[in-house]
Amino acid sequence: MQIRRHRLHYDNGEPVRYAESPNRGGALNPRFLIMHYTAGSSFESSLSHMTRRGTSASAHLLIGRDGAIAQLVPFNRVAWHAGRSRWQGLSGLNRHSIGIELDNAGPLDRHGDQWRSWFGRDYPRDEVLVARHKNGGRRRGWQTYSEAQIAAALEAATALCRHYGLADILGHDDVAPERKTDPGPAFAMESFRAAALGRGDEEPARFETITRLNIRDRPGLDGAKLPDAPLASGTFLSLLSQQGKWAMVEVLDAEGMPETTGWVHSDYIIAAQPEAATG
Ligand SMILES: [Zn+2]
Repeated sequence: MQIRRHRLHYDNGEPVRYAESPNRGGALNPRFLIMHYTAGSSFESSLSHMTRRGTSASAHLLIGRDGAIAQLVPFNRVAWHAGRSRWQGLSGLNRHSIGIELDNAGPLDRHGDQWRSWFGRDYPRDEVLVARHKNGGRRRGWQTYSEAQIAAALEAATALCRHYGLADILGHDDVAPERKTDPGPAFAMESFRAAALGRGDEEPARFETITRLNIRDRPGLDGAKLPDAPLASGTFLSLLSQQGKWAMVEVLDAEGMPETTGWVHSDYIIAAQPEAATG
């Protein structure tokens, strides 16, 4: 994807669907990208909410579960997605950031063998991650994001970071931790950030373990430990994919060549410096 005249375009040169929102402010010179979930029931319902006059809500992009993208505000104008917020001495992050909303029901509560959203729709277990939010609170369900949606978001984020030289990608729950929980535990922020910010397109994101860490044959604590487990602290890994908090990785040997493939808990890996990984 590419950006021309502050609009997102596909690689074939077609602009993404544009649905202008009246809910916007003045000039924007973006420094950050902020990720959100809509806590809504569908792409179209969120689009209609954010393009209706008087809701005081918008974002630059809305991304559906099928990977469809709509742009609501040009990237050089303020959109209203972050509200009361602060980061690194800045407050009111709308004036400093581009906002992407992901169609997602948000937090869910158990209802029989399903999980129920605040608007009353039930979601099956395989669409739900059960976790405590990093900012605290009880364990609850969170609707997972779809692969097509994350792929589209990553392409858009990569183009935005490159075009505007953005300094970082943050969650709404990072800049307004006392009142917001989006994009929440189901969004793999560490790997998303590493992939979108300043890495080659084909290069898998490189990570390193920050403690002795088990590696398993499938995601979850019931996965069997592989013969290499536990990995030493400081082991280099390349990230292949992510499911909730679990990352599928290749363990890299001293030459940076892949050895074992398995699953590790993503709370215990951090993005590695590119030069350190090639040693
Ligand atoms: Zn938000």
